[in-house]
Amino acid sequence: MRAWVLDRPGPVEREPLRFVERPDPVPGPDELLVRVRACGVCRTDLHVTEGDLPVRRPGVTPGHEIVGVVAGVGAAVRDWAVGERVGGAWLRRTDGTCRYCLRGAENLCPRSEYTGWDADGGYAQYTTVPAAFAYPLPAGVADVALAPLLCAGIIGYRALLRTSLPPGGRLGLYGFGGSAHLCAQVALAQGATVHVLTRDEAAQRLALALGCASAGGAYDAPPEPLDGAILFAPVGDLVPVALRALDRGGVLAVAGIHLSDVPVLRYESELFYEKELRSVTSNTRENGQEFLDLAARYGVRATTHPYPLSQAQRALADLKAGRFDGAAVLVDDGIDLTPPTASTHPST
Ligand SMILES: [Zn+2]
Ligand SMILES: [Zn+2]
Repeated sequence: MRAWVLDRPGPVEREPLRFVERPDPVPGPDELLVRVRACGVCRTDLHVTEGDLPVRRPGVTPGHEIVGVVAGVGAAVRDWAVGERVGGAWLRRTDGTCRYCLRGAENLCPRSEYTGWDADGGYAQYTTVPAAFAYPLPAGVADVALAPLLCAGIIGYRALLRTSLPPGGRLGLYGFGGSAHLCAQVALAQGATVHVLTRDEAAQRLALALGCASAGGAYDAPPEPLDGAILFAPVGDLVPVALRALDRGGVLAVAGIHLSDVPVLRYESELFYEKELRSVTSNTRENGQEFLDLAARYGVRATTHPYPLSQAQRALADLKAGRFDGAAVLVDDGIDLTPPTASTHPST
């Protein structure tokens, strides 16, 4: 198969990824072998590629918004069958036994593993996904449209939960890329008023088209105080800006896995009146399933930009430069592809 591998992390303009030929992966006893049909390009892939996140698996294949078809199952797998459509996401494994897992906070598991960081991900023709962490996917939605839901969508949803937004509340979204535009659709469907704060004019237009109440610059004050806000842009300088935009009792959730340093905070204007600053760490499987169910019910749609798998590095560079709104999705361009057997490779 063809797969992208990370030689040594560095600026994406210097092309740290290599597109190589390698044997198909072999699933472990509790894993699925997945023929990848689409893989979303997440900002975390950029952080892995550029070294903002430390190397956990040398030569890793990035990618954790995986939509594919089960092409094989490990010996211990009972509830998946070859030919079923499957989603693979960022949270790959937890130990299931630690104090966090036992209290329903598996996103905090110290022994958790992540797809495309600890293990090879979806920038490839085949990958493996632990069966217990694989998501069934709704029928009737295209592979490309589903891919961004699997991280951008799920993490955005957890971030929304972390704001504890009251019913009918006023929500501010700082940054409006792949994750935010999905989060906005859920919040709007649940009755929130959504204000978007981003410098990107194409993203501002998308926000208004989706039904957001306003779209302004990232450092502008929103037109009304906010009950909740989510910082999607990886910019620590925006933390005090967003905290000042909160109403009394408001909550700011930081959605990213990586954030530049937060400047000194002023207690009176940025924290007093019980404003709260919260981080968001990964997600639980329950968050993931709940989001996928809500997305199907509300008709949440990702704005996608398909790239051939062979152009993954360009997709990452375009993400970094902000050259598209919504989400990039890699689609296999079928180089030297030999399906393992006819039955595992549906023709559509
Ligand atoms: Zn655990
Ligand atoms: Zn992601």
